[in-house]
Amino acid sequence: SGGSLVAYAEAKTYSGSHGHIAHADATASDGGHALSEVVPKKKKLVLLGTGWAGMSFLKNLNNPTYEVEIVSPRNFFVFTPLLPSVTCGKVEARSIAEPIRNIIIKKNVDISFSEAECVKIDPQNKKIYCRATIDSHSKGEEEFAVDYDYLIIAVGAQVNTFNTPGVMENCHFLKEIDDAQKIRKNVIESFEKASLPSLSDEERKKILHFVIVGGGPTGVEFAAELHDFVNEDVVKLYPKVKDLVKITLLEATDHILNMFDKRITNFAENKFGRDGIDVKLGSMVTGINENEISTKARGNGKTSSTPYGMVLWSTGIGPRPLIKEFMKQIGQGNRRALATDEWLRVEGFDNIYALGDCATINQRKVMVPILKEFQETLDDICERYPQVELYLKNKQKRNIVDLVKEAKGDAAKQSMELNIEEFKAALSEVDSQMKNLPATAQVANQQGAYLAKCFNRMEECEKNPEGPPRFRGTGHHRFHPFRYRHLGQFAPLGGEQTAAELPGDWVSIGHSSQWLWYSVYASKQVSWRTRALVVSDWLRRFIFGRDTSGI
Ligand code: FAD
Repeated sequence: SGGSLVAYAEAKTYSGSHGHIAHADATASDGGHALSEVVPKKKKLVLLGTGWAGMSFLKNLNNPTYEVEIVSPRNFFVFTPLLPSVTCGKVEARSIAEPIRNIIIKKNVDISFSEAECVKIDPQNKKIYCRATIDSHSKGEEEFAVDYDYLIIAVGAQVNTFNTPGVMENCHFLKEIDDAQKIRKNVIESFEKASLPSLSDEERKKILHFVIVGGGPTGVEFAAELHDFVNEDVVKLYPKVKDLVKITLLEATDHILNMFDKRITNFAENKFGRDGIDVKLGSMVTGINENEISTKARGNGKTSSTPYGMVLWSTGIGPRPLIKEFMKQIGQGNRRALATDEWLRVEGFDNIYALGDCATINQRKVMVPILKEFQETLDDICERYPQVELYLKNKQKRNIVDLVKEAKGDAAKQSMELNIEEFKAALSEVDSQMKNLPATAQVANQQGAYLAKCFNRMEECEKNPEGPPRFRGTGHHRFHPFRYRHLGQFAPLGGEQTAAELPGDWVSIGHSSQWLWYSVYASKQVSWRTRALVVSDWLRRFIFGRDTSGI
């Protein structure tokens, strides 16, 4: 008092990776005159992960009222769609990695980065526990805690071995940049080893038997890369062993590239057949030891073992230990990914968000308000068009879910002359929401951008909510829910041919799609630096061939 009013704002700051908490007092006084200017405390936003979802969030965030701390075991972003190109020397590893600090430095937001992995989330105390991943030669591991107001979990997923014996010990994976480099080294070493004079042809054949487990986009692209490498470079560089190379692709289901249009699947299987890639469909791997890979045919249960030189395991993804533990903690233990609502908030938490491969939108919960809306629309239609009422009565389909399943386009549309536009719109909404989103960079990228936009407009939308009416309670949601927009997908098949599936059921396969692939992937690079590096790698390969130094 005494005429002097002290404005006091406490700002908590965390000193980088050590988690030491300091308190900075901001005191404002003006020669005895009251000056009541409170510096608002910045909300602390902690982001876990620097992959597709994390990078996209970061790039799009421009609200300086947050203090952001990023925690990730790697200080760079990786353009994963080009990882298969690294395995055989078409593109260099560093060309597809962008240091995260290059992105941070361009932002007007207060951002810090800690190279560490989060090992535990404590939602009750709004705290995460981390362990530094840098080999600092320090005694013991550097551990620290970080408090948050908002937590954004974008830690991706890990490879899924389905507990198949021997996979961890004997297989390569293609998830990180290190994996691609190890594969590249192993591929080159296989050719060098097979060229040694002391070996028998039988031994050479074993060394040069490359097996790929999983006929998804990654496995297929690696098979295509390897085949191109053999045809374009090995024939010239290792002419003596070129005919001993064998590439086998094992797929447990009936087709490769299951998530693609049938036309693409057929084309890929035929092309691989012509290229001499041995595609074994319905073939389940039961175990791998140092020398052999064992399989069981799905149809007749016949088992067999084949000697191999190198195996790439690419059968899908599962949750990371951090996510598994967190799911157990919050009662989601039986799920395969963290369930969120349509606003990407982890179920039951207002301040924890999850996106990308580690999360999934809980479709059942999302469906409830949509179905309710649908029921109301239907009631309205029934009132206006008694024929529909009759139809529903005859079919005894008052149950809305049964109706959704059965009424698509058939009797409801044909036998009645009515305006069913609303009805169709509701159906297509239901249809699109029923599908789980794929674990792709495209989804992660869109989710990151969506969430950043929400944070950019948090205060604005708090005052003027822009979302749909709340299902429970009154008023509107702050934001529109996340909606995925599928822009198409590519499957490079080798020989400068790519299959492209574009929106509107549009399929294109061949050399022209390969050029589309080059342009899309060049344009999608996160910086001009990586764009220039990737394009120059492609040119280098056209002029000089692949780099076979293996370093
Ligand atoms: P990620 O990109 O995996 O990033 C996870 C981040 O979290 C990483 O930075 C990681 O270091 C960090 N992290 C891990 N653990 C912790 C922890 N405990 N604490 C803090 N941080 C942690 N998708 C497409 O759409 N098109 C394609 O062509 C395509 N090709 C692909 C090719 C390959 C070889 C691979 C492997 C994937 C491909 N994908 C493609 C899929 C795509 O890469 C993933 O869907 C996407 O990376 C998911 O993004 P994310 O941010 O969820 O996870």
